Amino acid sequence: MTATGEVYRVDWLPGTDTLHGTCHCGAEHRAEDPVAMWEWLLDHPHGPEPRGNGR
Ligand SMILES: [Zn+2]
Repeated sequence: MTATGEVYRVDWLPGTDTLHGTCHCGAEHRAEDPVAMWEWLLDHPHGPEPRGNGR
């Protein structure tokens, strides 16, 4: 069984101050500020719970 749900990946680009983040939806973003990175990830709009909504 594989756990499903919100998965974010944040990698530090070697040799730089840049963070590279990947949202579970596949969107990518780069930022030098970890706070800005997490705000982008958490702000990325998918709706609160996309699953289980029949409409
Ligand atoms: Zn996303």
